[in-house]
Amino acid sequence: MKKIAILGSTGSIGTQALDVIRQHKDLFEAHTLTAGSNADLLIQQAREFSPDTVVIANQDKYNQVKEALADTDIKVYRGEQALCEVVENENIDIVLTAMVGFAGLRPTIYAIQSHKTIALANKETLVVAGDIITRLAFENHAPILPVDSEHSAIFQALAGEGNNKIEKILLTASGGPFRKLNFEELQTVAAAQALRHPNWEMGAKITIDSATMMNKGFEMIEAKWLYNVKPADIEIVVQPESIIHSAVQFEDGSIIAQLGLPDMRLPIQYAFSFPQRLPLNSGRLDLFEIQTLHFEKADREKFPCIQLAYDACQRGGNIPCIMNAANEVVNRAFRETKIGFMDIPRIIAQAMEEVPFITTPSLEDYFTTDSETRRYTQQLIQG
Ligand code: NAD
Ligand code: MG
Repeated sequence: MKKIAILGSTGSIGTQALDVIRQHKDLFEAHTLTAGSNADLLIQQAREFSPDTVVIANQDKYNQVKEALADTDIKVYRGEQALCEVVENENIDIVLTAMVGFAGLRPTIYAIQSHKTIALANKETLVVAGDIITRLAFENHAPILPVDSEHSAIFQALAGEGNNKIEKILLTASGGPFRKLNFEELQTVAAAQALRHPNWEMGAKITIDSATMMNKGFEMIEAKWLYNVKPADIEIVVQPESIIHSAVQFEDGSIIAQLGLPDMRLPIQYAFSFPQRLPLNSGRLDLFEIQTLHFEKADREKFPCIQLAYDACQRGGNIPCIMNAANEVVNRAFRETKIGFMDIPRIIAQAMEEVPFITTPSLEDYFTTDSETRRYTQQLIQG
């Protein structure tokens, strides 16, 4: 029986992870559930899964959760520090990092230092501090198993390849809801349109990141850290049907890809059950029904966030951290209709130029850079 802590159990990834656990009650147990502020859903999940512990990050919701679970022996904690402490519990085997944004960094570090297996959904952690995270994971013998569908596909393509050299990673992208719009049309798109992703149902933040294609930039950085490849050897391939979830090309020219219908429960379950595969009651890909797949190059003029991510990687230091923090602020501002769609890359680029550069940041430097960048970006938005 594997005991699992889900950081962000009320979100898109979190609820799908609970569905995987529901389908395999004999193999997986939800040991710890945590949420930001969705107390109602957290309570409902706690009633269904009877975890050992729940944490609500938002202090104001604590009493509601505590009272609702008073007739159970579930431990209830509150606040950010509790998120870090609960993952240290010696009974936990796997920590699924399904929180959104920079807030996932500190609990992930605690989980790594407690030698947990990390099922990593929170890609921002690797974007910001991939150097420190991969080093800590190595030192603490804490495997990082990817949950992001592309990285799971790459992981599956590499299974059994031993030390065979990767020549190139083909990182596939749906292209998002605005793939077909031209530069002028992109100036006026609204948040409501961006929130309608063609293939995936996801949280609001990553859905906007998919529309700007910053998500693909993040995933390029994520792939660089997970698979130790140079950004130049990661090629973004727009594949609008989201059937090929990514592929690896080897030195002999062979390309191994993973295909399937878009369903995040597969990569979540694979991270939980690895190296085994388990049955999953999801749809099956029917190639006769699909008939045709399409491939396009990613357009970095229309989607400058892709180029920003390659630039951030090349400059290194705290630049990816600056890019991530600025992106979190503008992503929210766009959803709140305070800025336009094309202001997103413009403001991020400005933050990357103006926030002080640190060549070899410490973990503390990343926290300072994050808050400085948020302050600076807010000022830019307020004008
Ligand atoms: P979501 O917004 O649906 O859910 C986020 C979860 O984190 C919620 O449970 C929320 O309560 C919690 N949370 C948010 N802020 C918090 C905070 N400050 N403190 C504590 N808890 C907090 O997001 P999501 O779409 O599930 O994405 C989660 C992560 O997984 C992101 O990093 C995203 O990039 C990554 N990811 C998501 C998908 C997807 O299909 N949704 C695919 C690949 C990767
Ligand atoms: Mg992805």
